[in-house]
Amino acid sequence: MSSPSDSPAAAPGRLVPETHDHDTGGFFAAAAREELAVCACAACGNVLHPPRAYCSACGGWDTTWRTVGGRASLYSWTTVEHQVHRAFPVPYTIVLVELEDEPGIRLVGYLPGRPELTAGMPMRVWFEPVDEDGTRLPQWAPDER
Ligand SMILES: [Zn+2]
Repeated sequence: MSSPSDSPAAAPGRLVPETHDHDTGGFFAAAAREELAVCACAACGNVLHPPRAYCSACGGWDTTWRTVGGRASLYSWTTVEHQVHRAFPVPYTIVLVELEDEPGIRLVGYLPGRPELTAGMPMRVWFEPVDEDGTRLPQWAPDER
């Protein structure tokens, strides 16, 4: 996974990921279309998460991006009370969700404040715009379904 960096196109103080990385670019290309995608082996279908070029299940080197639904369950979370970067005023909560379409595959997200959360609760993706170039980050919010 690429590390975030300050971008001259970003909103003031906002962290923007490197979206043109060979291994992770497909994730951000899908997010820009407001789709959620996981990297998978083109030969055997094994999900490669975090995204990578080599399949540990079959040894294949061809990968593809598989669009998945935007529903998940809350796996874990932590609330941050001590500010470490100006882009993230405290308090905020980092959530770890498990995808409904791909059990075992987990993604992180950001929620402002100290939301009331329960392990296993339904979560739904939304796509946060983070710059003027169309970069979006998948984020997760409680799903009131
Ligand atoms: Zn494979």
